[in-house]
Amino acid sequence: MPHESRIPLSRLDPNAPLVLDTRALSRQPGSSREQTLNVPAPENFGVEMVGVPEGAELELDLRFESVLEGVLVTGTAWVPLEGECARCLDPIASTFEADFQELFVYPDTRSGGNADDDELRLEDDLIDLEPVLRDAVLLALPLSPLCRDDCPGLCSECGVRLADAGPDHHHDAADPRWAALQGITDLRERKQEG
Ligand SMILES: [Zn+2]
Ligand SMILES: [Zn+2]
Repeated sequence: MPHESRIPLSRLDPNAPLVLDTRALSRQPGSSREQTLNVPAPENFGVEMVGVPEGAELELDLRFESVLEGVLVTGTAWVPLEGECARCLDPIASTFEADFQELFVYPDTRSGGNADDDELRLEDDLIDLEPVLRDAVLLALPLSPLCRDDCPGLCSECGVRLADAGPDHHHDAADPRWAALQGITDLRERKQEG
């Protein structure tokens, strides 16, 4: 990844749903403000099998706190999830929770020796919550979601959904050890017939 400048070249778009204005927060360290927000999910929130449908509503509970070097944002997001059951591949839809906390440093603050390339900064009075939320969502995303906790999955022999097929579903010749026994039984039957 290219590391050209610590200060982003592009200005934030104040109209983007996850670009938040912190002007209402006093710069006095210790002061805080809370905000609840509903925003549409940005694209590409997810991985191959599971993800957050683009445009689905995310509910955010946010707390902004003035600290010496910037604004500390702590939040919880309730995130809708769409994907496939990891066992039976049925489509599932649910909600999960993602927590995050991030410090946005004032543009004119030098963070000294422990400067960090990933450091997020306020631009004017704006913060961009999207990268923070994206990381939190990807971290909290259930990678093997199940349609229900006791989903029995698919039959390893024929692929039928075991939840539909019922507990009696089985295949006689599924196990080669049984197949051998089956051969002996066949012989016996033939003798009796003969
Ligand atoms: Zn399932
Ligand atoms: Zn089967």
